[in-house]
Amino acid sequence: MVNFFFREKIKMKFNEIPYARPDLDGLIENIKVLVSNFKQAKTPQVQIDLMKQIREARNEVETNESIVNIRHSINTKDEFYDGENKFFDENSPRYSAAINEYYSAVVESPFKKELSKEFGEHFINLARVKEESFDQSTVPLLKEENKLSSEYNVLIAQLEIIVDDKKYSMGNISPLLSSPDRSIRKKAAEALYGALESKQSEFDQIFDNLVQIRHKMALEMGYENYVELGYKKLNRTDYTSQDVSEYRKAIYEYVVPVVKKLKNRQKKRLGLDLMKYYDAGFKFKSGNPTPKGTPEEIVKNGEIMYKELSKETNEFFQFMLQHELMDLISKEGKMAGGYAAILGKYKYPFIFSNFNGTSHDVDVLTHEAGHTFQFFRSLSQPIPEYYVPTYEAAEIHSMSMEFFAYPWMNSFFKEDEQKYKFSHLSGSISFLPYGAAIDEFQHFVYENPNISIEERNKGWLEIEKKYDLSADKDNNSYLESGRFWQKQGHLFKVPFYYIDYALAQVCAFQFWEKSEQDFDSAWKDYLHLCDLGGSMPFTQLVEQAKLKSPFVKENLKTVIQKIDYFLEGIEDSKM
Ligand code: ZN
Repeated sequence: MVNFFFREKIKMKFNEIPYARPDLDGLIENIKVLVSNFKQAKTPQVQIDLMKQIREARNEVETNESIVNIRHSINTKDEFYDGENKFFDENSPRYSAAINEYYSAVVESPFKKELSKEFGEHFINLARVKEESFDQSTVPLLKEENKLSSEYNVLIAQLEIIVDDKKYSMGNISPLLSSPDRSIRKKAAEALYGALESKQSEFDQIFDNLVQIRHKMALEMGYENYVELGYKKLNRTDYTSQDVSEYRKAIYEYVVPVVKKLKNRQKKRLGLDLMKYYDAGFKFKSGNPTPKGTPEEIVKNGEIMYKELSKETNEFFQFMLQHELMDLISKEGKMAGGYAAILGKYKYPFIFSNFNGTSHDVDVLTHEAGHTFQFFRSLSQPIPEYYVPTYEAAEIHSMSMEFFAYPWMNSFFKEDEQKYKFSHLSGSISFLPYGAAIDEFQHFVYENPNISIEERNKGWLEIEKKYDLSADKDNNSYLESGRFWQKQGHLFKVPFYYIDYALAQVCAFQFWEKSEQDFDSAWKDYLHLCDLGGSMPFTQLVEQAKLKSPFVKENLKTVIQKIDYFLEGIEDSKM
């Protein structure tokens, strides 16, 4: 049962939420006392009551950190929040250490059975992987890791891409990369990779330092390398790198050939003899599908869509609008990309994005809104560990919402509706080999931590070839040097997070298929999945949602065949 009345008392808009640097030392001290009481508790009920107090203290720290992250990413040039961001980078590992004490105490609790009965077995399993993925001795390394990761963010956010004397950023260059005018696409792509190339040694160095630090951390904690530790840091309790490796093999076997066909169709549609790297983003001769109307109109359409979709989505979207919990438009100094965040103390979700006039803007209103819808449904879970599931499960909510929104795509795209659906579905399939490649690259990197930067980049080129990713590089020196992966921020920030999208995609495809057959019943399963939040591990959530596991090869094969068949039936040559 989800109870929403707790939100009614809060009327503050995001910008009105006050921020003052929390008394971190005091809060850490408080948590330590609570944890010590937890250890000495004589009954399970005392432990359960203490857990509530620990949750309150955590909400105080984590909500403030979240506010800082959001305000800093909205304007990386704001010195105050830049300073606060540095403060958290510097101090959050100390806080993590205190929280980890708590997880150790949970693992060692004599009342594990009772806690498990109250909160589910998953809580205990989570406490265990959290405990096993943190060690006090690695705090200096964690600080260094945070610092490097922030350096990468700033480098990307402030990248200046000059096309025809006009300045662009990673956040707003995309429309040029998919321009119907081939010379503009070429110029934009050359400028983009040129800008990345001008910083390549910085990217090389940051990444190399990150790999060394992470490897060192793993060794200090008794792991063979960073792989197992990385999996644990992602709270993966129900599958291993072996399962993921099998999944990549299935993608290689069943998806790569389908994507090859799609690329050939694209080439034919565009009337090109050879697809160059700057053509990849251009899908139709008549231009890519674009949303019609101003950003305000797009949001208005989103509002209508969620009103019509269900009572629950309407309640959610109205809440987002009323409390101004979305920052959607791209502006100077704003960090690239998009994300969904949580302010636990206020039970607020938040959407951050960079609208750029492409179909991506609608994806924000479906994908990021899918995430925030789940947060909205789960923020009343009894423990913060259950607000959000692990990433691969969380991406099911967002990617499936993209499909549940299909019946409303006409209102966004008008005459481009069919083009949008074709490119969205074929793009979603084409993504899988890329997701597998990024993942395989990460395994290669962390299993071989001592290879040189050049060998690493050479490794990328081989993987790229294996999954048939690259179009003709047209002698672009940056791409030929094997550094394309550098613009994939996940590699820097959260190792081994990325295959999650590929795992979730297969689940979302199943919701697409089900929603085409029986929308209401598919929606019911989806809603149930959202309400479960993070109370179970990935494979169990998949089961609860009546979906088939992506780890079974046959399941991927079946769903890909269906989409392949569906796409084959569409006359794309006329689009
Ligand atoms: Zn997402």
